[in-house]
Amino acid sequence: MPDIDHIYRWADTYFNKTGLPIPYRELKIIISEIAGIPKQKVIAKNNIVISESNFRRLKYTIKKRAGGYPLQYLLGHIEFMGIDFFTGQGVFIPRPETELVVETAIKFIEQYKYKHVLDLCCGSGVIGLSIALLKQPVKVSLTDISKKAIILSKKNCEKLGICSKVTFYRGELFSSLPRDIKFDLIVTNPPYVPHHRIAHLQKELYYEPLNALDGGSKGMKFINSIIGQAGDFLTESGMLVMEHDHTEAEHIKTLTGKTKGFKNLKILNDLAGFQRVSILGKS
Ligand code: GLN
Repeated sequence: MPDIDHIYRWADTYFNKTGLPIPYRELKIIISEIAGIPKQKVIAKNNIVISESNFRRLKYTIKKRAGGYPLQYLLGHIEFMGIDFFTGQGVFIPRPETELVVETAIKFIEQYKYKHVLDLCCGSGVIGLSIALLKQPVKVSLTDISKKAIILSKKNCEKLGICSKVTFYRGELFSSLPRDIKFDLIVTNPPYVPHHRIAHLQKELYYEPLNALDGGSKGMKFINSIIGQAGDFLTESGMLVMEHDHTEAEHIKTLTGKTKGFKNLKILNDLAGFQRVSILGKS
């Protein structure tokens, strides 16, 4: 039977032959998760035997990863806000910078005792469900145009055991919400990558749904609609917390004040120093 060393040797030979290496860090995660071996043992490489079927599964997974298929889809889950969420092909993979949206939302929920939150363009549901889990009295609604996204969000909701306080809608932006519904807070990570940049993104992105990324010619297609409509769905002291690209910050500044009474705007930088999250306030 093969042991861990066989896998490392096989992987090295494969990477040399194809010229498609994967980071060593990822290789260890794959071995640990796919073969069900604790990470410490994978790192120590101490004569752990691997069954033939696990060896086959590992080779398949490593080849697929080396071909550019995202690690997060291969593993089927991801950590976000310290919470374990399912990922799924056809649904946008959550990014660490989006934790800033959740951290900001939680601060306002605590400060203003907000009770009702909407996660618009929810994808796998990580923003809204993190808020629902971490801020127990708050009710959260999630909406997305993608059927796959709603199915995955529901799966995540069930896994976290918080479905009694979460409502799902399916449709583009606000279109499937009841017309008179009001939220204290709308949080969103809409598609915002400027279209011309899509072709130059790293190869992993080709496996993600384009409609979750492509924000039209300047990346502002959905952001414009959201800023235009969000006011109708917010209470008088409500707020919109939205992720965006740093190149879109100036445009968002020009929209604030002109549209549906958003009087205040604050823009936060992400950890890389880019303007990433806008807070628009009605009062
Ligand atoms: N931050 C993502 C990326 O650059 C884009 C997210 C989005 O379009 N909502 O990959």
